[in-house]
Amino acid sequence: MKTVYVDNAATTAMCPEAIKAMTDCMSGVYGNASSLHHIGQEAAEVLFQARQDIADCLNADVNEIYFTSGGTEADNWAIRNAARLGSKKNKNHIISTAFEHHAVLHTLKKLEKEGFEVTYLEVSADGYVTPEQVENAIKAETCLVTIMYANNEIGTVQPVKEIGQVCREKGILFHTDAVQAVGHIAIDVNEQNIDMLSLSGHKFHGPKGVGALYCKKGISLLGIMQGGAQEKNKRPGTENLPAVAGMAAALKKACAELDKNSAYISSLRDKIIDGILPVVPRARLNGGRDARLPGNVSFCFEGIEGESLLLYLDLKGICGSSGSACTSGSLDPSHVLLALGLPHEIAHGSLRISLSEYNTMEEAEYIIEELPKVVNRLRDMSPVWERIMKEESENGIQ
Ligand SMILES: *Cc1c(COP(=O)(O)O)cnc(C)c1O
Repeated sequence: MKTVYVDNAATTAMCPEAIKAMTDCMSGVYGNASSLHHIGQEAAEVLFQARQDIADCLNADVNEIYFTSGGTEADNWAIRNAARLGSKKNKNHIISTAFEHHAVLHTLKKLEKEGFEVTYLEVSADGYVTPEQVENAIKAETCLVTIMYANNEIGTVQPVKEIGQVCREKGILFHTDAVQAVGHIAIDVNEQNIDMLSLSGHKFHGPKGVGALYCKKGISLLGIMQGGAQEKNKRPGTENLPAVAGMAAALKKACAELDKNSAYISSLRDKIIDGILPVVPRARLNGGRDARLPGNVSFCFEGIEGESLLLYLDLKGICGSSGSACTSGSLDPSHVLLALGLPHEIAHGSLRISLSEYNTMEEAEYIIEELPKVVNRLRDMSPVWERIMKEESENGIQ
């Protein structure tokens, strides 16, 4: 049986360039970047180059990049930092949205317990927030706006530049969780008015367990731990050099090939959306079609459970997701789909197909062929679907 991996929003397969950078590092560059001898300095050089490569991809300065253990740590760090800076000035209000990743949402919930007030902007039915909403929510006490660049479940891309502009004008820090966007959408932190940005290696064909925080020069960044002088005394501990080098190699490649990949992946995405929606009744696409990640397809199918759908698709070799990997396994429907205003019943039947440049047109065609069959089979066994059909015939709707 063939395997069709379409869960790239959960994680990606590593690219050969990243694997090579890592193994080169593991076999050759074993020094500690803090050591003064030449073996240590070789490691320091690799570390510097990786930081430079990542900075270049964001149009940031090399001194504005801090390595972390991943997107989650970068999100926690950025938000906690802004909250601590805010506290010092008696500013304890934060603006965010209801459909952030849990790394952001749960950090905010914790801050609420510690006395912060958080405004969660309402998300439109097609998955967007506006700069006007941000502007209207700003108060004298606001110390941070944190809004994700692109949503990990429904793929909608927010008007980051315009939101950043509002924050600049009001002198409020703006952080964006860009974990789904970096390497997939062209990002320029200066042009897009971004103060802090989180990224993660394994979402663009790099290794897991490594990420970075971009923090604009001039913003005071407080340390998260005590220890050595690494990462400018702010994030101590011997650097994970192979992971950092692998992440940088992957990002360099992703940015160099961004336009080409984006056009190709979007064509697969559109093929699947246009191949499924007209064929499967009571199917909907979650999230608007215009400002959307190239690789994201998110459906809801009425009358079935996303979990069963995934298991049946897996039997066909298709590896998708029902929402974010972090919520799979819990019985609650995704907070993202609920934030769009979808009823629980519909939100339960969700399927996320997330593509990369490693997917082929044949795979897209295979999904278009198999997915409707699986949906029909599950609906044949579903009492909920039976009820929907009964209501439909009673109401005389076709
Ligand atoms: C994957 C993801 C994260 C978490 O990144 P990790 O490196 O896995 O900790 C955060 N935010 C978004 C939007 C993500 O997709």
